[in-house]
Amino acid sequence: MSKGTKVPGYMQGKGSRNPRGIIGDREIRYKCSLQNTVLDVLRGRPGWQEVPGQNNIPQNVQANPKQQGQQSTGQQPSNTGKSGSGSTNQGTTFGNKGSVRNPQQGPGTQPGVPTRLGDGDWDFYWCDREWLAQNYDTMFLYEHQKILHFRNHYELTRKNLMVKNLKRLKKQTERELGKAEGQSFEFFPTTYELPSEYHIFVEEFKKNPGIIWIMKPAARAQGRGIFLFRRLKDITDWKKGEYQPLSDPNREVPETYVVQRYIENPYLIGGRKFDVRVYVLVVSYNPLKVWLYRSGFARFSNTRFSLDSIEDTYVHLTNVAIQKNAPDYDPDKGCKWSTQQLRKYLCAKHGVEAVKNAFKGIDNIIIKSLQSVQKIIINDKHCFEMYGYDVLFDSDLKPWLIEINASPSLTASGKEDYDLKFGLLNDVLNVLDLENRLTGKEKRIGGWDLLWEDGPILADDGNMECTPNGTTASIPNSFLGCHNDRKRQLRELFTAAQSIKKS
Ligand code: ADP
Repeated sequence: MSKGTKVPGYMQGKGSRNPRGIIGDREIRYKCSLQNTVLDVLRGRPGWQEVPGQNNIPQNVQANPKQQGQQSTGQQPSNTGKSGSGSTNQGTTFGNKGSVRNPQQGPGTQPGVPTRLGDGDWDFYWCDREWLAQNYDTMFLYEHQKILHFRNHYELTRKNLMVKNLKRLKKQTERELGKAEGQSFEFFPTTYELPSEYHIFVEEFKKNPGIIWIMKPAARAQGRGIFLFRRLKDITDWKKGEYQPLSDPNREVPETYVVQRYIENPYLIGGRKFDVRVYVLVVSYNPLKVWLYRSGFARFSNTRFSLDSIEDTYVHLTNVAIQKNAPDYDPDKGCKWSTQQLRKYLCAKHGVEAVKNAFKGIDNIIIKSLQSVQKIIINDKHCFEMYGYDVLFDSDLKPWLIEINASPSLTASGKEDYDLKFGLLNDVLNVLDLENRLTGKEKRIGGWDLLWEDGPILADDGNMECTPNGTTASIPNSFLGCHNDRKRQLRELFTAAQSIKKS
């Protein structure tokens, strides 16, 4: 179902390509692998046209949990050879294994070279991770094309690799800048990869008798396969039992897990634990350019928190996929608060300054985690990534990084959630600006605030704050949980950008 071809005023009468390689005189052609809010956004966008006559959902790609409205981690693509499972996904509707990548050549112009159908037919592709993994290495992209995901996004979104990369940057920072600087990395709980770090884990375990640990499969999602334990005996049994008869017959080695120190003192509201979903948009890794979305939500567990019953997942795991199965779950009430609601609540309880500090901690988590993979991610100007960060506050309001998702759920659980995701995704497209309506110098676009561009971004000069010693300082351009008047802001932004461009 395609939209009409009516082209809005801002796109009429422009040259074919502007210097930034963006299409200016015709509709923008898109493809989309997901059937949820993102497709609604693309279909509703003036001047955007679904690539006709093609099935945008790759048919022989395994269903992405996200498409079923569930949350997932950045599970490592099966053809990277690291997850251990053999790939059966030989090509997709558009893919063609064995195609030759030739940047000088348009699709199908060289006789004898397999043609990648569709490569030149779209300008924008919201693809799934599996499609990218299957096709990226042999894919030719035109200057102006934009595609979701960086090739090796799993360096950050697979639980074990995220921690490995963070540990490495922490060590390097301590070496180069001293131990004190290294402390700025103390936002992820002590974590070991299993089976490879089993012995180091056991040593650490023995040093801290009585504490609780959480065991998580490195590449699964939605709380699947997770359990808490206090005694080594519990994992001895697990190693002999669930861990050994491997679910995947193609796997020759045990599934990779992470074992992590459990945060035993989460911040509670109404006696319940929650974590916060934070949206982060990376449009370039080199230089690193990062946007932070003002809105998001807190996901509450449905049952009052207690350490008495560590086997009760309804108490300890805040995943919606888990909580919606709780016996007393109320689908009308759900278990979410907007980040604005959360910030307001925390400010009323602890004061603005304390909350500002706590939220600064989230900025630090975002930047440090992205820097930890900056040199590893294959930077490609065609790629962008919208991450969903999961952050948990402890009782001292210290934020902890739980995990990072490369495909945060975009399926709405209700009207409010739909509005959030609809605005969020529209604003992703506004930032990418394929329509070329903006100047490229913006610090705020709708609900996205520019947090980092090869260095920290400060809010406009008008936003000065007083420091304790009486001097003034610019504040970071970070407004997580602040008012998100995106529609008004966009109206003003587009008008201002138009007049700048005319002059
Ligand atoms: P999944 O990818 O399966 O969702 P997560 O790492 O996000 O796995 O963990 C699921 C949930 O378990 C989190 O949303 C959080 O509520 C809880 N959790 C995970 N790790 C910890 C931890 N170290 N301490 C406390 N709670 C945790």
